[in-house]
Amino acid sequence: MIEVLHVEAFEDNYIWLICGQNKEVVIVDPGDETPVLKQLSAQSLKPIAILCTHHHYDHVGGAAAIAHQYQIPVYGPAMEKIAAVNKPLNEGDLVEFPSLDLSLRVLSVPGHTRGHIAYYGQDSLFCGDTLFSGGCGRLFEGTAEQMTASLAKFAALPDTTRVYCAHEYTLANLKFALAVEPENEHIHELISATQAKRARFEPSLPSDMASEKKVNPFLRIHEKSVINAAEVYSKQPLDSEVAVFAAIRRWKDDF
Ligand SMILES: [Zn+2]
Repeated sequence: MIEVLHVEAFEDNYIWLICGQNKEVVIVDPGDETPVLKQLSAQSLKPIAILCTHHHYDHVGGAAAIAHQYQIPVYGPAMEKIAAVNKPLNEGDLVEFPSLDLSLRVLSVPGHTRGHIAYYGQDSLFCGDTLFSGGCGRLFEGTAEQMTASLAKFAALPDTTRVYCAHEYTLANLKFALAVEPENEHIHELISATQAKRARFEPSLPSDMASEKKVNPFLRIHEKSVINAAEVYSKQPLDSEVAVFAAIRRWKDDF
């Protein structure tokens, strides 16, 4: 099992550091170089690569400065314009770091942005702003159809998959999840557990796919309770999973 450290950035971003032997690390979504450089130096860590999931500033803003300082490659989605990226990636590509015993498969997961990618390997998923604990990313560039397919790719991963999301949105998301499914005991339980973690200033993450499938309305669009709630919200029958997803996403946007 890989060790993953977190660096807090901005209001609620997490930058993930995947650690190997010999203090080598791979940095995921460094939106800001300052807290990353501080942690690298404090723990004498040696970065060997940067992975970006999508082009938003709070995920790539620090990539160029860190890459320049350490002379390391920057991987990112081939379909998005990110100045710092020099290793463009597409669906199915493998990113391998033998010295960390780490091999990550690239998943194309459009929806939040048009070219968004995620990295999966070692029973861990680095999903950027596509999936959050209890929620999912807003549809800034993609369609409900694309996001539904992207989340289905995640749902097909093993239940044990640890989910490293890029923001601490869990409690706000679970509050919404409870509005969709007030009777869902798993949501009540996760709210309590998350409140306890946050009271100790610990991240609520990583989550795991088993838990997300029990609480996350955007992964539960086939469940009767979620379909009913989406139909009540949109005041019409919804005849497809995409339509249910779109209704829940609109509801969350206004929540
Ligand atoms: Zn984003």
